[in-house]
Amino acid sequence: MPTRAPYKRVLLKLSGEAFSDPSVKGGIDPGIVRQVAREIVELKSSDGTEIGVVVGGGNIFRGASPSATGMDRSSADHMGMLATVINALALQDAIEKAGVETRVQTAIDMQAIAEPYIRRRAVRHLEKGRVVIFAAGLGVPYFTTDTTAAQRALEIDAEAILKGTGVDGVYDRDPRVDGNAQRYEEIDFLAVLNQGLKVMDATAISLCMDNQLPIVVFELLREGNIRRVVRGEPVGTLVHADVLLDPTS
Ligand code: UDP
Repeated sequence: MPTRAPYKRVLLKLSGEAFSDPSVKGGIDPGIVRQVAREIVELKSSDGTEIGVVVGGGNIFRGASPSATGMDRSSADHMGMLATVINALALQDAIEKAGVETRVQTAIDMQAIAEPYIRRRAVRHLEKGRVVIFAAGLGVPYFTTDTTAAQRALEIDAEAILKGTGVDGVYDRDPRVDGNAQRYEEIDFLAVLNQGLKVMDATAISLCMDNQLPIVVFELLREGNIRRVVRGEPVGTLVHADVLLDPTS
C-alpha cells in the first residue's frame, strides 16, 4: 500500500468545525467554506485528483452532545446526520461557484435535494472529474462521520483519507494545552489506539487498520496544504500500518 506517494483518488474528511469560524463556535462561515472550496478546486485543476468528501455536522448538532440531553439517542443522531446535509449543500454551492462540478450523495434518501448514495454511481462521477460529497453519514445512528469516511474511502477505492483539522498533525499531548507536545511525522494504527490519540474514533481507526488504508492528518486551512498532502510531501502526520517495527522483537 503506498503511503506518502502522490495520490490519484482521495477521501477528504471535513469535520463540521471546518465550516465555522473557530472564534465563533458553531454555524457556517461562508468565507471559510469558500476557502476550503478554493483549495479543493485548485487541487482538482492542477493535479486532476479524484476527490470524495465526507462532511461532518458537529458545527450544527451532534447526537451525543449536551444539547441532546434527555433525547432518544437515535433521534438525536438523525438530527446530527441531517446537519451534515446542510454542510454538504454549503460546500457544494461553494465548489460549483468556483467552477468544478459536484454531486451530493446522501445515505438517507432525500432526492429533492441530492442523489441517494450509490457506490458505482459515485465512482463514475469521480472518473468524470466531479467532486462527490457524501452526506448523512452512514445513515444509521451510533456512528460518526469519521467512520463514514473510512467506509466510503474503502468503497470508492481511495488511496488515503485526508483528515483536515485545526492543528498540523497528531501530537503526543494536546498542543493547545501543552507547549512541549511533540508532533508525530508518522505513527501506526495500533499506537494510535493504545495511546488513545485523538485522530479518529476507534471504530474508524480499526476499519482503516484492518484494510491498511492510510490516514493523513493535516492543518486544513493552511494555503496549499491539501495539494501538498496529495503530492506526498511530508505535511502533518501519516497514520499507517507500515511503520518499521524492530524485526528482532
Ligand atoms: N451520525 C450518525 N451516524 C453516522 C454519522 C453521523 O448518527 O453514520 C450523527 C451523530 O449524531 C454525529 C453527527 O451525526 O454526532 C455529526 O457527525 P460527527 O459528529 O461525526 O461530525 P463532526 O465531528 O465530523 O463534525
